Amino acid sequence: MNCLFCRIIAGEIPSNKVYEDDDILAFRDIDPQAPTHILIIPKKHYDSVIDAPAEVVGKMSEIAKKIAKDKGIDANGFRMVINTGEDGGQSVKHLHMHLLGGRSMEWPPG
Ligand code: AMP
Repeated sequence: MNCLFCRIIAGEIPSNKVYEDDDILAFRDIDPQAPTHILIIPKKHYDSVIDAPAEVVGKMSEIAKKIAKDKGIDANGFRMVINTGEDGGQSVKHLHMHLLGGRSMEWPPG
């Protein structure tokens, strides 16, 4: 298995988990770009959002909103970002959603 996030799901690589169910895992980004920076991933491997069914992306969004509430970033606002492909800046080829919140958020720009 050479997919980094599949190895995290399998427990071969440690992660700082914040949420887990049968379909979804969420853990803290190793290189946070905001005070709260969490990755939400499906346990089933999809290379990107292009390959994933709507239900999977929908569940990731629901979990992101739940985590945002749990972490207290819902009131002031947050970002949910899915980088896709080369031009989209996707470095890990396993579908993931970035949940970013808190002040001093400088990424993504704009
Ligand atoms: P992307 O550039 O959209 O593909 O995002 C990949 C993210 O995975 C980056 O924000 C990395 O910091 C993050 N990342 C890479 N390796 C790990 C790891 N072992 N644990 C947690 N996050 C990671």
